[in-house]
Amino acid sequence: MIGLPPEVPDHPAGLCILCAHHRVTGNRRGSRFYLCERSKTDPSFRRYPPLPMIRCPGFERGPPDPWSDFADESEEDR
Ligand code: SF4
Repeated sequence: MIGLPPEVPDHPAGLCILCAHHRVTGNRRGSRFYLCERSKTDPSFRRYPPLPMIRCPGFERGPPDPWSDFADESEEDR
């Protein structure tokens, strides 16, 4: 299903955190970056979208990225 969810989640990444097309990257200092995989095939999507994303025509609900949890823990540990 492609479309907007009923509400934007209370998360710094907004919609991207619920989207099947996001991927979390980071560095050893604990910074997190939310990459949009749609940017690889569609130039209308930015590789690193401005966050929080509140509306996106490419949104597709998907399973959570397992790296999201790791990144959250890393930030809390700082
Ligand atoms: S398609 Fe939109 S909501 Fe999904 S990851 Fe890319 S920018 Fe975020």
